[in-house]
Amino acid sequence: MKRKSLTGFQIESNEDVWLWDDLPELEMEVGYKVKALLHYEQSPFQEISIVETKGFGRMLVLDGTPQVSSKDGFIYNEMITHIAMTTHPEPKYVAMIGGGDCGPAREAVKYGSVQQVEVVEIDERVTEVCKAWMTKEPDSDKIRMTHKDGATWIQGQKKKWDVLLVDRSDPYGPAVSLYKPQFYQNVYESLAKDGIAVFQSGSPYYNLGSLSKTINNLGKYFPIVHAYLCSIPSFPGGIWSFVVASKTWDPLAADLNRLQWQNAKYINPEIFKTSFVLPQYIKQIIERL
Ligand code: SAM
Repeated sequence: MKRKSLTGFQIESNEDVWLWDDLPELEMEVGYKVKALLHYEQSPFQEISIVETKGFGRMLVLDGTPQVSSKDGFIYNEMITHIAMTTHPEPKYVAMIGGGDCGPAREAVKYGSVQQVEVVEIDERVTEVCKAWMTKEPDSDKIRMTHKDGATWIQGQKKKWDVLLVDRSDPYGPAVSLYKPQFYQNVYESLAKDGIAVFQSGSPYYNLGSLSKTINNLGKYFPIVHAYLCSIPSFPGGIWSFVVASKTWDPLAADLNRLQWQNAKYINPEIFKTSFVLPQYIKQIIERL
């Protein structure tokens, strides 16, 4: 018999604790065995937990859904950041919507041309909790935090950013506004004339609709739109998608000498290129758009 407690957490009769990530569309859940619940609170926006798991180390969990783990978070952080940062020949002004523990911002400052990384995170408590439990404070004075709804913030940004990273949660709770059609147009308008944006677009297997809607919406504004994939073991299904949308520079023709991969743990020039190779079930959906 299982006892239900906080969103996603269950205590077995033998006192083992599990975190269950619910995938309602598929009527299945993915379980993570919990060593310790280190922190829990309800912020004005969401439930925030920090969990020590048996398999993936320390995890930031929002509304019962794992966001980043200490063991494999480097994969997400590198893959959301380096594709656009390498493709743009000289990214100076970089913005990121959805901060979490600022992992992608720390990747972005590895590019010498960067003057500023503005991180726009809706929930100040996520920033505070991550500072306390996940990572040290961002170590670069080029990184600046703003606590605002990214969908509102972007309306005031015009022709400004060379690279914009949309490190959004899945389309629930406070992140819903980051999936609205108007948001994609605002992203286009916020970018410099040769700007590039990257969007977290979910599991291509469990959430193909989210990926195809993102591509479809971006295709209305951007001449260059590509999906790319990576493998994140702690995420449901293990395979994850991003969409890159560019006004001028094509990631398929990027100068890979620019890729800052010497200290990377996942990305390298081969991964950069092959991440754009898609299986048939995804290609067929994209071709029909
Ligand atoms: N990759 C991150 C990390 O390294 O911690 C995890 C970021 S998590 C995928 C998404 C973040 O987006 C959460 O911290 C959440 O609070 C934030 N968020 C959700 N909706 C938002 C919104 N409308 N505007 C800005 N940030 C938002």
